[in-house]
Amino acid sequence: MMKGAHFPATTAAFALLALATFHLVSASDPSSLQDFCVALKNTDAGNTSNAVGSKVTPANVEQIAGLNTLGISLARIDYAPNGGLNPPHTHPRASEFLVVMEGTLYVGFVTSNSDNGNKLFTKVLYPGDVFVFPVGLIHFQFNIGKVNAVAIAGLSSQNPGVITIANAVFGSKPPIKLDVLTKAFQVESNVVEYLQNQFWYDNN
Ligand code: MN
Repeated sequence: MMKGAHFPATTAAFALLALATFHLVSASDPSSLQDFCVALKNTDAGNTSNAVGSKVTPANVEQIAGLNTLGISLARIDYAPNGGLNPPHTHPRASEFLVVMEGTLYVGFVTSNSDNGNKLFTKVLYPGDVFVFPVGLIHFQFNIGKVNAVAIAGLSSQNPGVITIANAVFGSKPPIKLDVLTKAFQVESNVVEYLQNQFWYDNN
């Protein structure tokens, strides 16, 4: 924020320019409209017996009304042994700070097209390790251990949102037109039809 030394604030035009600048760099939720609202929520282990072998248990403003206007939320993520996967997804409104509680996770994210040209960053994480997924970037976690894994994710929004890539692209309702996806993915239509005919489990 450019207040102080470089902000004489002598004209309305300058003030408007400063406001516009602040708006461009403001990436978090708006400031609080209330002090607090008491609420509690228990986050038990999620059931990982599903197609991807993971379960996200969110603790956002939908479950905890007291998070309203606070700009934060949490999620517990459980992973089945030997390959439990939180599949590639993005959060349109939040960066994510992951803390591994149990198990061994191979995690990663991919940068945007222009920022380093879709560079993949990965790391193997053990209990106590932390990792950050920047807002909007596609990321995943994969249990490479022989036992259950558990992680806690802190998110910088009361309502982070989640877009699971496969579900959104191949499982939309109604389906995206075949010609669009065959051209986008440079494959024959039978490949796209196969993918569109799968059941895309939502682990959230
Ligand atoms: Mn995430």
